[in-house]
Amino acid sequence: MKNKFSWSFSRRRMFEECKRKYYYYYYGSWGGWSTSADSETRLLYILKNLQTRHQWMGSVVHDVLKRIIDTALFGTRPLNHTLASTTLHNIMKRDFYNARSGKNHTDPKNFRGLFELEYDLPVPNQEWKRLYTAATSCIDAFFNSPFPDIINHLKYNDRLKIEQFDYFRHNTIKIFAVPDFIYKNNGIYTIIDWKTGSTTNYTDAKQQLTLYTAFTIDKWNTAINSCTAEIYNLLQQDNETFLITQQDIEETCALMDESIEHMRSLLDSVTENTASINRFARCDAMHICRTCFFYQLCWTDQVLRDYYDEDYFIPFA
Ligand code: SF4
Repeated sequence: MKNKFSWSFSRRRMFEECKRKYYYYYYGSWGGWSTSADSETRLLYILKNLQTRHQWMGSVVHDVLKRIIDTALFGTRPLNHTLASTTLHNIMKRDFYNARSGKNHTDPKNFRGLFELEYDLPVPNQEWKRLYTAATSCIDAFFNSPFPDIINHLKYNDRLKIEQFDYFRHNTIKIFAVPDFIYKNNGIYTIIDWKTGSTTNYTDAKQQLTLYTAFTIDKWNTAINSCTAEIYNLLQQDNETFLITQQDIEETCALMDESIEHMRSLLDSVTENTASINRFARCDAMHICRTCFFYQLCWTDQVLRDYYDEDYFIPFA
């Protein structure tokens, strides 16, 4: 398998945060899924697959939503709140104990690893409980939202995408898009991005939705005025609808072009997509390093725990 260049918003974000982190994630860890990979590549792959506790909570909520919508989609079982809550509980419990016993080190692809456990950070029990409560609230909010009714009334072919990796091409480059949910109703394509964290700043999210709109136009050969995009924050139970314009898409394409050019300028070979670590500098921002999965490769002389105290973990909700 060849490491081919592609682009996504998360890739851009990582590149902007720290070039070294980007190198480890997209190049250094390549091939580390194999148990016969050399020890550094394997370690990078294990670290790359970690999640912070907030990412973990969000991804479990998204997994559960995908499962219950999929079962409704295939008509095997209607949407079921109790089943969703039980599934959430079981996944979070299983993931936590698996991560604590280090199963992600033997099988990083199939077992989630948690950053805070990997680095033995002092997360109080009440914070783990708070995460679980927040995840439960997100599932409750989904069932109190208009979505179950919308999903139950959609025709089979109008449930278009649920949390699936897909891509479109921009100037021959694969642009990855993983929309949470896209459905079609009365000729309108609705793109949904579910959020599970507390935020009021949706600037990045709007760019992401612009990309999903470009993907929708490309995938289903539709017009921009047949698309609508919405952020639905399950934790805060609020939503914001965006009318994406042609100008938004053009600005996002310009941003992609600039970002792709910048990323490629650091490669050894653009055609082979090969890279050397010394061309990817470490950042100089401890607020980025202290949540970086690759911390142990950069800061051997300091202990990550020193940057945390119990108060740091409290303000989640
Ligand atoms: S620990 Fe800091 S410098 Fe090292 S890869 Fe991570 S963000 Fe970059």
